[in-house]
Amino acid sequence: ESPNSKPYDASKIVVCVRKRPLSKKEKLKSDPDAIKAVDNTVHVFEPKLKVDLTKYTEVHPFTFDVAFDENAKNQDVYNSCAKPLVQAFFDGSKVTCFAYGQTGAGKTHTMMGTPEEPGLYTLALQDIFQMKQKKEYAHLGVYISFFEIYGSKLFDLLNGKKRVECREDAKQRVRIIGLEERLCEDPDQVAKTIEEGGKCRSTGSTGANADSSRSHAILEIQLKYKDSQSENSNESDPSSVYGKLSFIDLAGSERAADTTHSDRQTRMEGAEINKSLLALKECIRALGQNQYHTPFRGSKLTLVLKDSFISADSRTVMIANVSPAASNCEHTLNTLRYADRVK
Ligand code: ADP
Ligand code: MG
Repeated sequence: ESPNSKPYDASKIVVCVRKRPLSKKEKLKSDPDAIKAVDNTVHVFEPKLKVDLTKYTEVHPFTFDVAFDENAKNQDVYNSCAKPLVQAFFDGSKVTCFAYGQTGAGKTHTMMGTPEEPGLYTLALQDIFQMKQKKEYAHLGVYISFFEIYGSKLFDLLNGKKRVECREDAKQRVRIIGLEERLCEDPDQVAKTIEEGGKCRSTGSTGANADSSRSHAILEIQLKYKDSQSENSNESDPSSVYGKLSFIDLAGSERAADTTHSDRQTRMEGAEINKSLLALKECIRALGQNQYHTPFRGSKLTLVLKDSFISADSRTVMIANVSPAASNCEHTLNTLRYADRVK
């Protein structure tokens, strides 16, 4: 049996690509659709000249575990990519789901979604509360944290972007000191929590050019033993964690190229994003190859995710979001190459 015939929901690392529909603006500008997603393969029609997007060369196709075309809904992405993670989470695993891609490619649409089309956060939590009704999980509580990594600093999105610090304790477990962990009892409470964090992310500035494209947003859902949780939920005890599911809406991948920008702040942010995306790629590859050494110290992002990278039953899903527009071809190719390297 070849490795490719394994069902992807049983693999340690699943890489999928999601193409969004052309936007109104792109249609108005007659920016053609340069991407075709069929079965698990993505075809790219690269414009020969930037001035004439209609003359193109076909770039060799890329193959992934799944390729979603512009008709896919968040529910489809959830069912094939994230639902298996929720199952693993209830089996006690530490699992992660990343949205990677250029700004505007659909990362936040996939993760957060809209009131009409809820994203993976909400879809996962709906399932989580349903599963948790089973008696065997009655001793566990669902705790939510929501934070942002901007530059190499951490900000709590459930606490007005309060700065929090990440440290390794005596047992070399990574802990985020002072990060709010909110016990949620039902989907309504979760919806309010996610909305609060999402609003906090897009308003209130952290740095000079701060916007959501320059930061990684991490929604952490933990299943913890209720009785071992101390009164003060800010004093998180890592040994009380049963399972962990992290959703990461990554910084815009094109920002990693901002390292030659005229503005110093932008350059430094670009360098940090570049570093974290490279470190992330190395950590996921190490996980897939069962390597003994995982270079999680390569960036703040990978350090924060240390326990999810090193535990034996970890699983990761990478959703590479791409724009269909011919004018975005270069960025799309960069995203596909990155996703291709992760496997
Ligand atoms: P990113 O977070 O990667 O910067 P967004 O998720 O904000 O990108 O998407 C950019 C725009 O495209 C938003 O207006 C969003 O609503 C829209 N969009 C993205 N993906 C889809 C999709 N699959 N279906 C419909 N609209 C989408
Ligand atoms: Mg976004």
